[in-house]
Amino acid sequence: MSLTVLLALLAGVLGLAVGSFLNVVVWRVPRGQSVVRPSSACPRCGHAIRSRDNVPVLSWLLLRGRCRDCGEPISIRYPLVEGVTGVVFAVLTLVVGATWALPAVLYVAAVGVALTLIDLDVHRLPDRIVLPSYPVVAALLVLASWNPGGEADWGALVRAAIGGVGLFLFYFAAAFAYPRGMGFGDVKLAGVLGMLLAWFGWGTLAVGAFGAFVLGGLFAVGLLVAGRAQRKSGIPFGPWMIGGALLGLLVGESLWSVYLSLFT
Ligand SMILES: [Zn+2]
Repeated sequence: MSLTVLLALLAGVLGLAVGSFLNVVVWRVPRGQSVVRPSSACPRCGHAIRSRDNVPVLSWLLLRGRCRDCGEPISIRYPLVEGVTGVVFAVLTLVVGATWALPAVLYVAAVGVALTLIDLDVHRLPDRIVLPSYPVVAALLVLASWNPGGEADWGALVRAAIGGVGLFLFYFAAAFAYPRGMGFGDVKLAGVLGMLLAWFGWGTLAVGAFGAFVLGGLFAVGLLVAGRAQRKSGIPFGPWMIGGALLGLLVGESLWSVYLSLFT
């Protein structure tokens, strides 16, 4: 088994555990509660969740989606979030490989899962998650550029800074031009995503940024066709930004070289 495949499996397991924590984050952060204390309890009977009942995905399956104490149904959303985070971690590890860029990618992936759900739930991208991501992602990208044990790539760090500022300003302008479709939360998130995407290359940034509008546009057209769009059904844009960024990381550089080859 290659190192990358082994690492992807480990990342998948890590993703399951991270997803379990993200369930707590998604519920508590919009309510202004601590993500550390108290420990999780059943919302109906108040019994603390035992650690053996807190194993990602497995516990939910073994308990058949019910509280061990009172039988209250536990939403399938919890194991789904855990499973999806695990899969996203594993796939991104396969794509990025065993490199020092992986911590930055997995950090943004975890933040992305949490922000997607919070934005869908309450139409907000909380500062409590987005703002600390600036220093964290910047530090992790310094590590990625430093590349201990290999050749440093400080050009990528410069590109990341340009990409972060650039995408921030782009969304800033968009929020002014189209305030109903874009909020300042989206603007702040754009800076974080721009840094990470541009670190990998201009193609990743272009596909990642453009992908948000393609995905969001396709969804809007789908809603119109299905006749389910209501005039005031404000669909948050954060999930599309995060989905676009994922697309950029997965296929950005290859799509970009195909695009460039059309003109040579
Ligand atoms: Zn209960």
